[in-house]
Amino acid sequence: MKSDDWLTRQDSPEEFSSILHQRTEELYRIPDGEPDSEGFIEAPVLILRDIVVFPHMISPIFITPGPNLLAIQDAQFNFQTNIALVQRDPEVEEPHPNDLLPIGIEMAVGRLLSMPEGNSSALVQGRRRVEVVEFTQEEPFMKVKVRPIDEPTEVDRQTDALMRTARDLFDRCVQLDRSLPEEAHLFSLNIAEPGWLADMVATAVSLPFVERQSLLMLPDPQERLKRINRLLAQELDVLQLEDEIQSKVQNEVDRSQREFYLREQMKAIQTELGEGDIWTREIVEIRARVDEAGLPEEAKSAALKEVDRLTQMPPMAPEVGIIRNYLDWILELPWSQITEDNLDVTHAAKVLEEYHYGLGKAKDRILEYIAVRSLKPKRSKQPILCFVGPPGTGKTSLGRSIAEALGRKFVRVSLGGVRDEAEIRGHRRTYIGALPGRVLQTMRRAGTVNPLFMLDEIDKLGADFRGDPAAALLEVLDPEQNFAFSDHYLELAYDLSKVMFITTANTIMSIPLALLDRMEVLEFPGYIEEEKIEIARRFLIPRQMEESGLDIREVHFLDSAIRRIISEYTYEAGVRNLEREIGRMCRKVARMKSEHKHHPNRLGPNSVERFLGPPQFFQTQAESQDEIGVATAIAWTESGGDIMPVEVLILEGKGSMQITGQIGEVMQESAQAGLSYLKSRSRSLNISPDIYEHLDVHLHIPEGAIPKDGPSAGITIATALISAFTERKVYKEVGMTGEITLRGRVLPVGGVREKILAAHRAGLKTILLPERNMKDLIDVPKKVRDDLNIIPVNHMDQVLEVALHPEVEKPSRHRKPIAKEKDEGEKEQPEQAPPE
Ligand code: ADP
Repeated sequence: MKSDDWLTRQDSPEEFSSILHQRTEELYRIPDGEPDSEGFIEAPVLILRDIVVFPHMISPIFITPGPNLLAIQDAQFNFQTNIALVQRDPEVEEPHPNDLLPIGIEMAVGRLLSMPEGNSSALVQGRRRVEVVEFTQEEPFMKVKVRPIDEPTEVDRQTDALMRTARDLFDRCVQLDRSLPEEAHLFSLNIAEPGWLADMVATAVSLPFVERQSLLMLPDPQERLKRINRLLAQELDVLQLEDEIQSKVQNEVDRSQREFYLREQMKAIQTELGEGDIWTREIVEIRARVDEAGLPEEAKSAALKEVDRLTQMPPMAPEVGIIRNYLDWILELPWSQITEDNLDVTHAAKVLEEYHYGLGKAKDRILEYIAVRSLKPKRSKQPILCFVGPPGTGKTSLGRSIAEALGRKFVRVSLGGVRDEAEIRGHRRTYIGALPGRVLQTMRRAGTVNPLFMLDEIDKLGADFRGDPAAALLEVLDPEQNFAFSDHYLELAYDLSKVMFITTANTIMSIPLALLDRMEVLEFPGYIEEEKIEIARRFLIPRQMEESGLDIREVHFLDSAIRRIISEYTYEAGVRNLEREIGRMCRKVARMKSEHKHHPNRLGPNSVERFLGPPQFFQTQAESQDEIGVATAIAWTESGGDIMPVEVLILEGKGSMQITGQIGEVMQESAQAGLSYLKSRSRSLNISPDIYEHLDVHLHIPEGAIPKDGPSAGITIATALISAFTERKVYKEVGMTGEITLRGRVLPVGGVREKILAAHRAGLKTILLPERNMKDLIDVPKKVRDDLNIIPVNHMDQVLEVALHPEVEKPSRHRKPIAKEKDEGEKEQPEQAPPE
């Protein structure tokens, strides 16, 4: 080979390998240095800047003009090896002996091949490790005296284990590292010398320069193997990680390619079947609907984004349903549809009057509301109205009439039992089957942005761990916030500010305070019999007749019939059940008519029993006769008012008091207060003061086991107790309400109107009312006031005077010495007292 530039020539592969082979042969011919008598060899120094060529390894090196070139030329001139010494720091430009590692490699350097710019390259072959003894020359190139290091070649068990590990780790590296030729592992299997194996592996795998340096500096083969094993293990970790990442990436690529492929196929199939067109057409339609829906900017762009997502999907993808559902919601919610208010107050008054009897206060307030609106149409921040009253008192139907008067849509939603904020505000779309909350669902039904929106039963809202629905409701009702109501499902601001909200409740007591604060309460207190008859005659009967297909001229309800239904078939403050019973009668008549049977034209009290069966309730709930130990309280309940008998029984015992009948804490305290009062008045009531220790008191409030509480039964309990201990009977037609103090003072109570109406309904004649409650009678219809004897009271003495029979001079066990009393105890139990 004469050419000097074999690396730059374009030889064929065969030629190239034959040249390489030749070069290698030349290398082998260079003999190892011959040690002198002291065992040293001396040779010119070849400085390796940033590579390490281990013994047995052949590698090309690059040589710049300078000391290295001179050293090589000198060695070749003498047909000898060089000593390669590795720089400690590759950055040093002109290294001195101190800058070189003290262990080097004896190295054969092949023929120099010229390269551009005076540089050359050569193949080199490492022979063995050598230890520097001394530098014998520094200029123009270094010469060094070294001692060759003889490595042990025998393999003991530990070395064998280390070698196996090395081969095994190396094998795994070869499998993972694409840059390593597969034969490399085979090669490692054929190396029997431990040190050589370590060096060979160190050459093959890619190690940082410092690691190579330190491997060079380990002349002990075992040490070297240990270190190389550790490095291999690290390398393997890195390779495995790379491999994992690689295969993940690959998987991703594979999957998306697969999906792409399948989608293309599906498209092809759909086109074949003519379905692709349908889908495309559908999307075009949806897009057009979005464009034309008059959506506000934000909603429109959200909707269009979803449409875009649809176009990316095949029609059968599971998300399609979810997206379409969402789009349907956006499209079907009213965003701009609005009705124009009719703010004509005279017209409104006419409408309200047309459908409702009475309810003067509520109607007036509503007309004021409309009037204010007509004068200040923009920005009239009026309070939210809250209709409070027992069921069936016309709250909903008045709401409906207001909507009609204003020309607004009417919608209502019940909040009874709502405990989850999400019911108001919806669930996030990530939930399966998610929907908007009740507010937006109702708005969709309304179809306009300004309906009259009735929120029913806000007193029945609950709250639990799923968040407080009242808080969400506040946001709905608050004019400062509700122009941008946020629903979890819709995720768009929705404007509720044009809605007219009205809330309803049976009692203000359980309305969350924060809500109550924002509202103006209008009471719907319940009707007396005369009002009910009027409502039935004017509204309920005509409506029910029409619904059953009867003609008003054919059938006529007598007032006496209505009265009987009210008193014997219903027991309510409103007229809901009354209307239902009237409806039942109408249907019975209609059936007879259609079956061509004879039916009465005038419906009287007997027809009522004939059509509705035996009475459900009895005229009066009052006691049938005057009794000892039984007094009648009048109580307020959610469905209006009710009368409530209070019973006291005295038994022999040890002075304890037992209370039964679903009675709350406050009422129990009232009972204790009543008893204390009784004891403190023993003398004036002619009761022997030491009697109490030998008697037990049982207080019971029967009737339906509905929970009862509140202080207003105080005077009634005291009356029953005193009646039992003094054995004076209580007049049965007397009803009473009032809280009692320990000194017997009577304090005012709430719910007077309902209580008086209930007492009237129940047929009581005399009512004992705390004096400070007399002002409340203004709300009670005159008819009722005239029917009843209402007596103001301030003190228990007044109560007892009216409620109890006068004291009779007859022997009583409670006034006798205790010893005697025991003998006669049984037969004189108050309950068993003979009627007069
Ligand atoms: P609420 O909402 O208070 O429970 P509704 O409004 O449903 O009661 O009333 C029950 C029925 O009684 C309805 O058919 C209603 O029209 C009728 N009603 C109640 N009060 C009146 C009234 N003052 N005038 C005419 N109808 C009434």
